[in-house]
Amino acid sequence: MNFEKQLELADLIFPNVNESIEDYLTKYPKRDLKDGAKVTRYAPSPTGFQHIGGIFTALINERLANQSEGVFYLRIEDTDQKREVEGAISLIIDSINKYGMNFSEGVTGEDSEKGNYGPYKQSERKKIYNVFAKDLIKKGLAYPCFATPEELAALREKQIAEKITPGYYGEYATYRNLDVEEAIKKIKSGENYILRLKSPGNPEKRIKFHDLIKGDVSFPENNQDIVIIKGDGLPTYHFAHIVDDSLMRTTHVIRGEEWLSSLPIHLQLFDVLGLETPNYAHVPTIMKLDGNSKRKLSKRKDVESAVTYYDEQGYPIESVIEYLLNIINSAFEEWRIENKDADYHDYVVELEKMSKSGALFDIVKLGDVSKEVICKMNAEKVYNLYEKWSNEYNKEIHELLVANEDMIKKVFNIEKNGPKPRKDFAKWNEVEGKIFYYFDELFAKETINDVELPKTLNIEDAKEIIKKYKEVYNFNTDNSVWFDELKALAASLGYATDRKAYKKNPENFKGMVSDVAGAVRAAITHRSNTPDLYTIMQIMGENKVRQRFEDFINL
Ligand code: GLU
Repeated sequence: MNFEKQLELADLIFPNVNESIEDYLTKYPKRDLKDGAKVTRYAPSPTGFQHIGGIFTALINERLANQSEGVFYLRIEDTDQKREVEGAISLIIDSINKYGMNFSEGVTGEDSEKGNYGPYKQSERKKIYNVFAKDLIKKGLAYPCFATPEELAALREKQIAEKITPGYYGEYATYRNLDVEEAIKKIKSGENYILRLKSPGNPEKRIKFHDLIKGDVSFPENNQDIVIIKGDGLPTYHFAHIVDDSLMRTTHVIRGEEWLSSLPIHLQLFDVLGLETPNYAHVPTIMKLDGNSKRKLSKRKDVESAVTYYDEQGYPIESVIEYLLNIINSAFEEWRIENKDADYHDYVVELEKMSKSGALFDIVKLGDVSKEVICKMNAEKVYNLYEKWSNEYNKEIHELLVANEDMIKKVFNIEKNGPKPRKDFAKWNEVEGKIFYYFDELFAKETINDVELPKTLNIEDAKEIIKKYKEVYNFNTDNSVWFDELKALAASLGYATDRKAYKKNPENFKGMVSDVAGAVRAAITHRSNTPDLYTIMQIMGENKVRQRFEDFINL
């Protein structure tokens, strides 16, 4: 190799680049952190769509950094400028913040950032990538490639027809061995080019690597002359992330497993650039069950792939976080049982405990987790979160809610402090269906067909019961007296008040006292499954209860 010629080529391509890789490594020194502190990052492209998988990956990164008193930073990977969307950065930051995470460093807004390792937007790092690219050209490890898109397409076609691995490599890489003199001439005459790595790999050989989630993996060495700098002067993901993670002193690259197959390229790039390889962990893709088969949670097909879906449905953020922690480490579930009231931050996430294969996203399980989460909240918190949600997504109920704040707080408090607190809601859009009967405005929309009755009763039986019941009903009694009075009425109407007696001779009775209570419940709420009936009536107040009796009789 003629080093002088290589230098001439490198200077021709990058006339203004005078710094060396060393200069940059000195400029961005290793961070002064305590032993074992991890430096992790979230590195999305600003596409304007926040996939739940991004939150999942971010959460793992954030937990590992914070658990070790390290650094979690935001880097924006905007080298594919065609895909860029206005306002996407704010969207990314807002959703991460919303999910309880904060960046200690990096991009902080559309045009702002903090930290000593920037710029944190790839589009602003062109100068830096050029230093690394120039270094490779000087060493003969990168070259300008003048192949036109048509030439590349023809090559690919030929390779596919001949059943050989497609790509730009070895003997198929026409410009790999172009005489440097020739290359210089072409550039001077204004021909378009991109920069490619001159891969030193041999696919007959294998490289071994220890991935912190996947364990020991091994691959054939890379021999593709991958593009490092594109026609627009910006780097590819492969090249950019090597440079960035080195200079930003990332200790753990934790990213989606779709990148695992590119790992041989990345390891090779660290090697040719003489850079230290960070730890890698490839996070399993979030899958869903579709019929009997598993598939990727898709942006196009699955509404639940978008983070906004959880907002719209009204899953509390905490529920989604708890659920994601369940997927991250299945041991979380047991920890949660043993540490009912602990903050989720106290759970220590471990990469080694992550499942190596697909993470299954199960919306039913999310619902169960969420019911537990809401169940543990006090009534005040339930009210506040529901108020906020309904203000955005259900104005009608929101108006009723704020006008009846005290009443609804009592509703949310029913059986809260008892031994078995209720698990009525998994998400805020389910609340209306369970509290609508407190509001005359909503109750008025009901029809006779909505009334749910005990199996033993038809609507006429139920009306008969209510006609009698309204005569004996006392509002101002305690729960046990109230129930005794209900029992007395049931007995007088021929309903059993004793389960055993009923079981023995069911033919002697019209039904059980529970059926009579069911009729009262139906009159008050139109529903068969509600919290404690006495409490509901107390919260409603005597006037409303008596009105409900009248309305029921006249249904
Ligand atoms: N920008 C890449 C992506 O969104 C980041 C991958 C990584 O974390 O390195 O997939």
